[in-house]
Amino acid sequence: MYDIVIIGAGVVGTAVARELSKYQLRITVLEKNNEIACGATKANSGIVYNGHTARPDKLKGRLTLQGRQMFEALCRELDVAFKPIDMLIVGFDDEDGYAHDEILCPSRIVTTTVPIEGGVCKRLPVRSSEPLPKEWIGEWMRLVKELRVKAPVRVGEILIVGILGTGTDVISSKGVAQDQ
Ligand SMILES: Cc1cc2nc3c(=O)[nH]c(=O)nc-3n(C[C@H](O)[C@H](O)[C@H](O)COP(=O)(O)OP(=O)(O)OC[C@H]3O[C@@H](n4cnc5c(N)ncnc54)[C@H](O)[C@@H]3O)c2cc1C
Repeated sequence: MYDIVIIGAGVVGTAVARELSKYQLRITVLEKNNEIACGATKANSGIVYNGHTARPDKLKGRLTLQGRQMFEALCRELDVAFKPIDMLIVGFDDEDGYAHDEILCPSRIVTTTVPIEGGVCKRLPVRSSEPLPKEWIGEWMRLVKELRVKAPVRVGEILIVGILGTGTDVISSKGVAQDQ
């Protein structure tokens, strides 16, 4: 009989087992493959993230930073070689602004479809007029899904002005004529 059974011997399962081994517990780790770390753990790129790609107010951002802070001590304990290398992000021209924004404030043009009444088709493709910060996409979708449109609609017609208090409109991606 075990107190705790951990399923999966990737980095998460084995780290949980190691942490719990500090307590008086009978623990086992079950792995379906014939070796540990044969899943995502085996395939990863070996980057020790420092938290710069995740929002600090999100759980992922907080855990990434916390994990990075724990990493060096853990490597010492487990006798794993680790040499931190600083990261330098370099932009050479205006086009590299995309890479800069992608790291610091990633944004996307958002597209979806909404119902259209009295048109030659039943749904109208719509999109944001400008890229929207990624963390707003869920709220954008929620608001836009409530939109009801009547035909005719011109391509590029503004359907919602300045959604979410931004300068970004919701526009039609297609013209739809009235059904005769
Ligand atoms: C291509 C790629 C690159 C990545 N690069 C990085 C990186 O540079 N830096 C970084 O921090 N993260 C990176 N990641 C993410 C990171 O590798 C994963 O988040 C991490 O390895 C997940 O560990 P895990 O233990 O949750 O999953 P896994 O390593 O997948 O472990 C799950 C284990 O559970 C086993 N299992 C599944 N079902 C059962 C079952 N029913 N019974 C028994 N065993 C079972 C599997 O065989 C597997 O061994 C990358 C991921 C990928 C795919």
